[in-house]
Amino acid sequence: MTQILHGHILHTPQFGRLEVIPDGYIVLEEGGIAGLYNTLPKKYAAMPLEDYSDCLIMQSFADMHLHAPQYPMLGMGMDLPLLDWLNTYTFCTEARFQDTLYARRVCRQLAEDLISSGTTRVSVFSSRHTDATLILMEELERAGVTGFVGKVNMDRSGGPVQESTDESVSETRRWLENCRFAHVKPILTPRFTPCCTDTLLKELGRLAAEQNLPVQSHLSENTGEIALVKELHPDCHQYWETYHKYGLWKKGTLMAHCVHSGREEQEAMAEYGVTAVHCPASNVNLCSGTAPVRELLNRGVHVALGSDIAGGDLLAMNRVIVMSIRASKIVQIATGAPFLTVPEAYWLGTTAGHQYFGGGAGFQAGCKLHAVVVDDSAMPEPARKLDLTERFERSVYLMDKRHIKAVYSEGRKISLQK
Ligand SMILES: [Zn+2]
Repeated sequence: MTQILHGHILHTPQFGRLEVIPDGYIVLEEGGIAGLYNTLPKKYAAMPLEDYSDCLIMQSFADMHLHAPQYPMLGMGMDLPLLDWLNTYTFCTEARFQDTLYARRVCRQLAEDLISSGTTRVSVFSSRHTDATLILMEELERAGVTGFVGKVNMDRSGGPVQESTDESVSETRRWLENCRFAHVKPILTPRFTPCCTDTLLKELGRLAAEQNLPVQSHLSENTGEIALVKELHPDCHQYWETYHKYGLWKKGTLMAHCVHSGREEQEAMAEYGVTAVHCPASNVNLCSGTAPVRELLNRGVHVALGSDIAGGDLLAMNRVIVMSIRASKIVQIATGAPFLTVPEAYWLGTTAGHQYFGGGAGFQAGCKLHAVVVDDSAMPEPARKLDLTERFERSVYLMDKRHIKAVYSEGRKISLQK
């Protein structure tokens, strides 16, 4: 089926490069992008057209790090540092995912919140519970969100959500056997080194190789955590080696935070094709620090963005993009490293995440469409006529659900619940 979208097209094919097609056309064949046009070629003249004239057709967002079972504690416990925050709030909230009816309600609400905020690709941590993890995958699929979900593995220091090593491995296998979803796939998810014994990490490394599975975890978020990892693995000079040792440090691995990753850790990320997921709201909320994003990029590390709810309090990824700009300005004040511009940060929150999943450079021909249509007419009346670059910047800063008129995920137009 051929479909045509008409409106102002804005996307970032490269880091920092915003391409604008005023009054343009996107032609879709079976949900895949066939081409972008300034004027519609004659052969498409009779095809069905969605007219979004004077709206902005922008890339949708990719949230590359968030914790579904923490959604109910959004905006809470913000006065604690990481390890205390985990022990006081997080683990007991996650324990509630034992109750599948509760998990269903939370996951449904989260999935709808994500898609109506324009997030169409995610990489999510569930809890350690297999059934709740399958429910989460089902609810994301139902809402039209695509990407990866992981059953969390944690057989150490996990309070009420700790599992035994054997249980962790056998439940992971049971979970993998039951993952049968079209757009939501499994990713192995050791919580982080302090919560996993060596035996468990070894088993997960074996499973990753055996079933060719991607991996996600946390890295160098906070100095207390790094000191603990050093104590647990005296043979490792650096945090990343604790994952590398067990075959979990490889192409396609997602590592959240990397706030305190030094030169060698950054080089190891670039060398192995590990993606750093920058979570600026969470890093500031938990006083973890400000990640050296520009430095990571300069070293050739692939960097994407994550909301990291509920360490982060912002689920809407345009707000996380804005937060990444703000955090980079704090870094500039401290170190002089140039801050992230709006098109640079937008690329991190869109193209970088889409590319992780095999997407192309912006709205690239041959890729399925992931887009949001923004109607900015209800934003404050401007003092003069704004050009499209200005409207793009203002939309990144100000858009919320009220302005999101349509969402396309994996080439499908999603019906939004308003
Ligand atoms: Zn996290």
